[in-house]
Amino acid sequence: MKKLVPAILFICLCLPTFAHALYEKDVLDSATGDLVATFLGHGSLMLEFNKQVIQIDPWSQAANYAFLPKADIVLITHNHPDHLDPVALKKTRQPGTTVIISENCLSAVPGGQVMKNGEARAIGGIGIMALPAYNRVHLRDNGEPYHPKGEGNGYLLTFNETRVYIAGDTEDIPEMDNLEDIDYAFLPMNLPYTMTPEMVFNAVLGFKPKVVYPYHYGDTDPTRLVELLKDLPEVEVRIRRMK
Ligand code: ZN
Ligand code: ZN
Repeated sequence: MKKLVPAILFICLCLPTFAHALYEKDVLDSATGDLVATFLGHGSLMLEFNKQVIQIDPWSQAANYAFLPKADIVLITHNHPDHLDPVALKKTRQPGTTVIISENCLSAVPGGQVMKNGEARAIGGIGIMALPAYNRVHLRDNGEPYHPKGEGNGYLLTFNETRVYIAGDTEDIPEMDNLEDIDYAFLPMNLPYTMTPEMVFNAVLGFKPKVVYPYHYGDTDPTRLVELLKDLPEVEVRIRRMK
């Protein structure tokens, strides 16, 4: 028993660290501080910048947020259950967490701060701009888009001079052509709800991010995007476990 207590204590204290270490991570280039992306899976990402934690679309099926650092900022793109998950949100939220949401999440997120497409603000030195995310081609049987225009958000995050675009659930929309100087772009590829690899290729041709991460790709083969982008060496494709 005497030996068991320290062992249990060790497990309890170290579990969060182990859980954190389970995921793939990249250190993103940033001249003014560490910017680390942790790839939790599906549409769920964690960014850490100068000791601030940003959780994007926290979802219980991607991670157990009880074992991850609490969020300073949560960004929720839209109200589909794999993006708006009150259970995961409760685990990552602490007093003082800013939760940014699209308007259609408001009833499920008391205290959430709505950002509409085109709105911008700065929190803790991080620039946040809400951008459109919607379908033009992929529709439900009743003719409605899976993601109607104006309802969901993508987010453009600015960490001093480093610009990270998290597209949300969207297709290659004309508004993407206005994006400039994107260092890292996260573009979704799960079908039929978002983009085919060809649509992602088209989006990339429009705004040429330095690095593109296909994310939220479900059963779509991400290597198809690598093939499409092979003659565009100025754009690096990085595949991570973001099914
Ligand atoms: Zn969705
Ligand atoms: Zn989705």
